[in-house]
Amino acid sequence: MTRNIDMYIDGAYTGALSGERIDDLNPATGEVIGSIARGARADVAAAVEAATRARDAWAATPPNARADVLERTAALIERNLDELAVLESEDTGKPVSLARSIDIPRAVANFRFFASAVRQETLAAHPMPMALNYTQRRPLGVVALITPWNLPLYLMSWKTAPALAMGNTIVAKPSELTPQTATRMAELLTAAGLPRGVFNLVHGYGSEVGQPLLEHAGVSGISFTGGTATGAIVAATAAPKFKKLSLELGGKNATIVFADADLDAALEGTVRAGFANQGEICLCGSRLLVERSIYNDFVRRYVERVGALKVGPPGAADTQVGALISLAHRDKVEGYLRLAREEGGTILCGGERPEGLEPGYADGAFLQPAVVGGLSPSCRTSTEEIFGPVVTVHPFDSDGEAIRIANGTDYGLSASVWTRDLRRAHRVSEALDVGMVWVNTWLLRDLRVPFGGVKNSGVGREGGRYSMEFFSDSKNICVHLGDSP
Ligand code: NDP
Repeated sequence: MTRNIDMYIDGAYTGALSGERIDDLNPATGEVIGSIARGARADVAAAVEAATRARDAWAATPPNARADVLERTAALIERNLDELAVLESEDTGKPVSLARSIDIPRAVANFRFFASAVRQETLAAHPMPMALNYTQRRPLGVVALITPWNLPLYLMSWKTAPALAMGNTIVAKPSELTPQTATRMAELLTAAGLPRGVFNLVHGYGSEVGQPLLEHAGVSGISFTGGTATGAIVAATAAPKFKKLSLELGGKNATIVFADADLDAALEGTVRAGFANQGEICLCGSRLLVERSIYNDFVRRYVERVGALKVGPPGAADTQVGALISLAHRDKVEGYLRLAREEGGTILCGGERPEGLEPGYADGAFLQPAVVGGLSPSCRTSTEEIFGPVVTVHPFDSDGEAIRIANGTDYGLSASVWTRDLRRAHRVSEALDVGMVWVNTWLLRDLRVPFGGVKNSGVGREGGRYSMEFFSDSKNICVHLGDSP
């Protein structure tokens, strides 16, 4: 039995006006699990109209009342955590345990965080001798939220919560590969008391539904997370219309391990950085740079650990690596492993399709996590985003060389540095051309800090007040107070 996965427009589920649908596949089994409404320009128009009708009333709703809705949404997501974790795993192939411990709890945290943040928001005032300036923050109006398939609810809630908190109405478009949790979230928002039309959801292919959404004259802001090539299309579409734009794009992040690091902790952290969520996180450390004096020993231990990661059915409690998002994506990752060999690399472990999986999973998009050595740090495999369970390893001889290698890609999202030397940690972190650096850890997140990258990894920052500023415009009012008494 397949489920209907419909769009959500003006407070109700609806199919596409064309009546067309797309299959939703479970990448771990290859089974069709749902039938998704295949939206197009006319559906986008209906969603933007609904969001426009709801706009003024939601903008006028006091921040505390908006925060109440966000808090109730968080509670409803929490109450439905197990169901949402299973839906997320079915769509993505990721372990259910991961969705249960990371993805869905983060969605809860996102709603709670922005509820609290908007309650505590303060406005700036700039008094002059004869006048008072005060600066308001006003919602943008209707905003488009476009998200990728790797962390579906985690990223959709990361954008939805601040957009609603700041008084915007929304037309959201998740990846058509992972539509289920956003669809369920739409219903939970309504159950939490969100008025109809404030959150609208369209489904379908990027070119058919995403592009008309970017182009729609009624949309004033776009928050996009996805690949760099798509980001360029989004920017080219939005710029001539002067839409406010936030772009969170790809990464090819370096993990730098110095000989003076706590090597046991570094081993643990670098394996997680490389292969969490099957390596399908924009922040994954897909290039491991190791100081030459410990290179052979560290890489040997690393390869042993990676080789022991348990690949298997997403529902099994001991699975550490689930299926990739699709067979097509696995083909792409395997293509990079072929390229790695052509470029002179050696596959130190993994890269094969696992054998002997439980019945029902033989057609799934599984791949053994791979470590590749012997590559130049400047070759394509070492510098292009693979977005899968593949890490390249490279030795370095000095801080300067580590920094040069780390900065030697077109991306600039994040990096992690492992060392016990505090001065080196600061020096190297400052020299890295990225938006975020972790020292002796990876993916430790405080929702207040700026999130985003430089170079081809994006434009703008989200997180905490950065998200709240993105989803609003400031307006200054200067009141002349008359002559002094
Ligand atoms: P894509 O860029 O292919 O897609 C992202 C979203 O954009 C999807 O919803 C997609 O729809 C949609 N889209 C595609 N074409 C258009 C268009 N012309 N107009 C509007 N929307 C469009 O990325 P993936 O889904 O493949 O995700 C992987 C990428 O996301 C990686 O590069 C990864 O690094 C990046 N990412 C970045 C993060 C960050 O915060 N920096 C976090 C997570 C991922 P459809 O799926 O239907 O094509």
